[in-house]
Amino acid sequence: MTIVHLGMDDIDSPSGGCTTHFASTLVERLDGWHVKWLDYPNLVRLNPNIPYRTRGNGAVALRFCIEAKRMSELFSEARRMVEGYTERGYPNTNPGFVMVINDIPEQVTELAKLALWRALPIAAAQRIVDRLLLKHFIMGNGRGLIGALSAIGNRLANDHTYEYLAYRPISTRSRTRGVDHDSVIEMDRIMGDRVFSNMDPSSGEILIGPRGPDPVIYGIRGEKPEYVIEAASYVRSSEARERWTVFRTNQGTGEHLTHIVRVCDLRPYMAALVQGEVASTPTMIEGGHVMFSISDGSGRIDCAVYEPTRDLREKALLLTVGDEVCLHSGVRPSSSSHGLTLNVEGVEVITLSEQVAVMNPICPQCGKRMKSAGSGKGFKCDACGFRTRDAGKNEISIDRTLERGLYLPPLGAQRHLTRPIARINKTNSGMPTSLVERWHFP
Ligand code: ATP
Repeated sequence: MTIVHLGMDDIDSPSGGCTTHFASTLVERLDGWHVKWLDYPNLVRLNPNIPYRTRGNGAVALRFCIEAKRMSELFSEARRMVEGYTERGYPNTNPGFVMVINDIPEQVTELAKLALWRALPIAAAQRIVDRLLLKHFIMGNGRGLIGALSAIGNRLANDHTYEYLAYRPISTRSRTRGVDHDSVIEMDRIMGDRVFSNMDPSSGEILIGPRGPDPVIYGIRGEKPEYVIEAASYVRSSEARERWTVFRTNQGTGEHLTHIVRVCDLRPYMAALVQGEVASTPTMIEGGHVMFSISDGSGRIDCAVYEPTRDLREKALLLTVGDEVCLHSGVRPSSSSHGLTLNVEGVEVITLSEQVAVMNPICPQCGKRMKSAGSGKGFKCDACGFRTRDAGKNEISIDRTLERGLYLPPLGAQRHLTRPIARINKTNSGMPTSLVERWHFP
């Protein structure tokens, strides 16, 4: 038996589809070949700031053992299936497909780490497949190779979660799915903290259904495969499930935000933690976005907290000059209208600066606050008539309404990779040693 890792990305077409849906059809085919699955399909989310992404920048890796004699047949069958799934000539579809046998080379692991937070050139991925003689194929400009290799290189060993993805036929393209709102609320109530980010408790908004023309009916996120499978049994939708698959993922792990980057080292599209002092008072601009700047000794940069981040924006407005913060950010490239800017997707308040108000002194005779008696004439008390030239103004510390800690946008405005507050102290480490009996259909 040979151990195979198949990585794939950017497999969609103008008539719909997505990489996870394609992977689900490939799982069905390989199951018919009686491969021995080593893992659930891995859905690896990559740098969410990449401009070429269609949706959530997800790539997929399948890991299994197969009889050595079927190896050549495997690759040609996968290729045939990708070609059948996509339509050539569509400018935004640049599929990449790679096969790694047995051990995963160091270079592939390193690329996978970078792809979580940097913007990589296609040539970086092409060099790796060329040097290591990895069997692969690309279409279009081959950008999918970056995600395909990165999915293989990320073993999801530190922390991971699961997602149950239910699909409708690829020909169905409506933007609504008919997911029953009440059934999702009920599912969330029954499942409790075994699942996460499936609805926003503050607004009652349902977050499991996408709104595009893709074949996903809904995706349920949770801590274990058994949990997401049980959760799906409670959800009703008017569109019938044609197929479903459980993926192991890095969603909800915050894996893209692990690098603290100095302002002078920031580059376009990076996902970075940027630590510094608030350097200008936050203000709300047209469109409801909040703007301020921070500096860290190496430079100063504008920061934008956009309108859809709602509560996060309200918290940002409470920051004052001198507060020390760590901003969870995506770097927006400069343009003719603005410089390099941090798109803020989380604010960690580390220290709050002291805010003082300068006040007139208290009257020593009656305890009321005195008034100025005129320039150079000291203070007078209107209540009891006391006058003095000896007293000076007092500095009084003002209570801050903001507290130290991490602030995130509402769940509906978070990235797939964002570690939600509900998962702050949770980690699922290690890789599965066995799979549940039924993790996909058909
Ligand atoms: P789908 O769900 O259909 O796969 P998506 O949102 O995942 O949609 P893709 O259509 O796959 O987006 O496009 C993302 C493209 O960006 C892929 O070609 C992928 O290889 C590439 N990519 C991913 N991460 C990086 C990165 N860090 N640097 C440069 N390119 C990247």
